[in-house]
Amino acid sequence: MEIQVLEKDDTTLRLLIKGTHTAFLNALRRTAISEVPCMAIDEVVVIENSSILHDEILAHRLGLIPLKTDLDSYNLPEKCSCESKFGCNLCRVTLTLQKEATEAPVTVYSGDLKSENQEITPVSPHIPIVKLATGQRVMLEAYAKLGKGKNHAKWQPVSLCTYKYMPKIEIMKNCDICGECIKICPRKVFSKTGNKIEIRNLMACILCQDCVDVCPKNPKAIKVTWEDDVFIFQMETNGVLPPERIIFEALKILDEQFSELLKQFKVAKT
Ligand SMILES: [Zn+2]
Repeated sequence: MEIQVLEKDDTTLRLLIKGTHTAFLNALRRTAISEVPCMAIDEVVVIENSSILHDEILAHRLGLIPLKTDLDSYNLPEKCSCESKFGCNLCRVTLTLQKEATEAPVTVYSGDLKSENQEITPVSPHIPIVKLATGQRVMLEAYAKLGKGKNHAKWQPVSLCTYKYMPKIEIMKNCDICGECIKICPRKVFSKTGNKIEIRNLMACILCQDCVDVCPKNPKAIKVTWEDDVFIFQMETNGVLPPERIIFEALKILDEQFSELLKQFKVAKT
């Protein structure tokens, strides 16, 4: 297998992966979405809420705020040594929120949440939670825990995780450069240079075949196929964990699952 990094920043990662197949990449994608844990608010104790939103809606909104996650310092509640429903400081982070509209209406933002651990804070301080009219007040304590996307989407560390085949485009000799393929392509893959149709951005191709359908030539002067074992893998996180860490964790989980499968298989055989 050969991997090439096409694009990488704090929240996105695009890889060109050669020499693998869909079964493996799909397992990796599904594990990243549903098995890699991240932090989210799971329980809320509302001390006072005179805002227009019900306590439950407020709690739901708090749960969906992405929190920066530290996988090395915290345990999943079900794997924590405390074995307690309340949790301990190894499996739970407390965040508090206290805000009042004294003179004019105010909006409560995710940045108003005060965390006991400065490493576990909202990814963005600008997420609106509730708007308070003059005289209204919210005061609450929220408990964040590690969890998995398969139990609730709030524990999903990625907002996008996809792969596609590497496109393969051929322009045949009978092309008369009518330019129809350039006009129809939604991803602007082609361009006209001199008296030639050129493939300007091959990776942008989504294999929609519109260019083939629109080509007036018979037989078609353009052929769009894909490489069977080359993929473009793309991941976009919601900021809770760096994308490379999510891939690393997903591989670790897959490795553990396969080891367990192998162990069970050996037990079954004997
Ligand atoms: Zn614990």
